[in-house]
Amino acid sequence: MSIRTNQHCFECKECLAKLVLIAHEMTCPKCSRLISGLPHDETLFYENAISTMSFYKRDHGFYRPLAFYVGSWGDMMLSVTYQFFDFLEQENPADEKEFLDDFIKKLKLDDDSDEYLRKHYHDAISTVLVIYLDPGIEKYLEEKFGPREPIKRKSSWFQRLIS
Ligand SMILES: [Zn+2]
Repeated sequence: MSIRTNQHCFECKECLAKLVLIAHEMTCPKCSRLISGLPHDETLFYENAISTMSFYKRDHGFYRPLAFYVGSWGDMMLSVTYQFFDFLEQENPADEKEFLDDFIKKLKLDDDSDEYLRKHYHDAISTVLVIYLDPGIEKYLEEKFGPREPIKRKSSWFQRLIS
């Protein structure tokens, strides 16, 4: 299975808010306009998030790799999503949805005028959280793509030298 991390980003035609493709029909978190006719050949945010989360967790032990490169606004949304799930598993709260509400409230944004981003992050992470809770990321991926093979780690130059 290939991993795609570049998100499909676009702007709302009405208010020019920067958006990530969460659903093929979605409501703009800034101006509440219904945006339809979004491209069906683009991967939705939660699909990218879930695939990469599974890969990174199995390979690194964290959802957010230590050297994750944030090169675009869509990467930033993925990065916040990874942080949320790492934090969630660390804290193990009784109510995950309430934990998300709290996480989003405390999120530091660069610019207060980007307050709509809070709603957009919340909408995006919620789509991942629903699957995370039921049936779970690994089960979801298995149902969608079939049984998964364990990740084979490449041996390091040092291991090759001594073997
Ligand atoms: Zn808008």
